[in-house]
Amino acid sequence: MSKDLMVKSAAILKKAVPLMMKYQVPTTPLNYALWYTYVSNDIPELNTKLENLMASHDVCPPIQAESLYREFVSDKTESSTWELRQSVEQMLQQLDQSLTDTHSDTSKFQQAFDKTLTDINRVEDEGWSIDEVVILLKKLEADSKDMHRSTQFFSNSLNSAKGEIASLKVQLQKSQKQALYDSLTGLLNRHAFNTELSAFLQEESSGLCMILTDIDHFKNFNDEWGHLLGDQVLKAVGRKLNDSMRDGAAAYRFGGEEFVILLPKSNLRIARHFAETIRKSFEKLSLKDKRTAKTINSITASFGVVEFQKDESLSSFIARADDYLYEAKRLGRNRVLPILS
Ligand code: GH3
Ligand code: MG
Ligand code: MG
Repeated sequence: MSKDLMVKSAAILKKAVPLMMKYQVPTTPLNYALWYTYVSNDIPELNTKLENLMASHDVCPPIQAESLYREFVSDKTESSTWELRQSVEQMLQQLDQSLTDTHSDTSKFQQAFDKTLTDINRVEDEGWSIDEVVILLKKLEADSKDMHRSTQFFSNSLNSAKGEIASLKVQLQKSQKQALYDSLTGLLNRHAFNTELSAFLQEESSGLCMILTDIDHFKNFNDEWGHLLGDQVLKAVGRKLNDSMRDGAAAYRFGGEEFVILLPKSNLRIARHFAETIRKSFEKLSLKDKRTAKTINSITASFGVVEFQKDESLSSFIARADDYLYEAKRLGRNRVLPILS
């Protein structure tokens, strides 16, 4: 994100947050995106609709907010959700800093003002008439009280703005996390995989290896043991994968009962060996079916392993891994391909 764009975004955010507080809009990421778009004036139709809503209800009912978000905001932002969230994080940091600065300015001003008030007492020693001094003091005292009240009010509203921002941050972090992780297995998800793989291909692709794995006969497993136990298998496999990662390797849920591992700075032989270790660890998995008290220890998976070839495309890289995986299935499953001499 360019510096200019960041400054502009921060300016928009500075307007959006007080508006949300004024209308007591819950600071969910959705509302945040909605009001941000409102202040940015990008979509006049959204502004009209939101203003009409506020005029008739005084608040924006959550259901309406959600449908406005769907209609006007989500498509635009979903495509670059990741960038958006990162920039929001940066903006929040910047805004937080500027609020902290303003807050300390306010406190300093108040101290200076109080000091002036004390100094004024000396006027008496310098020969002012009592009446003159009393009038001046009364006026100053009144001014001081006003100022005190307004700076106090200002401090309070800054403090509550800071509170709002802190909770916005927490919520954004949470939704960032949700956007990257698969909820069933807790592994990184397909979206995280795509992002990470693209980044690798732009920077450090030499020696990058990929292991694609797919649980064997999982449809049969679900049919025999039920979908809930199937989910338990996916969880156990996810945990096992996560525990096996080392040397910068990362495991992702690719979809359904397929998983993928990215192994940077490696080579085909090492990656193949790594896949073999994981294959054996799956064979050792053991689950208990609480309903029938039976033990399940027949979980296996097939593996396809590839090393990135200079200048190949992302889709060819994945397709080659998929071809080996398919070959492993065809040859009888529970194995790693290619076989190296
Ligand atoms: P193969 O050995 O050839 O891979 O056979 P398979 O049965 O594993 O492959 P297939 O693609 O025919 O079936 C995949 C099954 O995985 C079907 C689907 O119900 C199951 N599955 C996908 N996602 C989930 C999930 O989240 N939970 C459960 N329990 N099952 C899932
Ligand atoms: Mg599959
Ligand atoms: Mg399968």
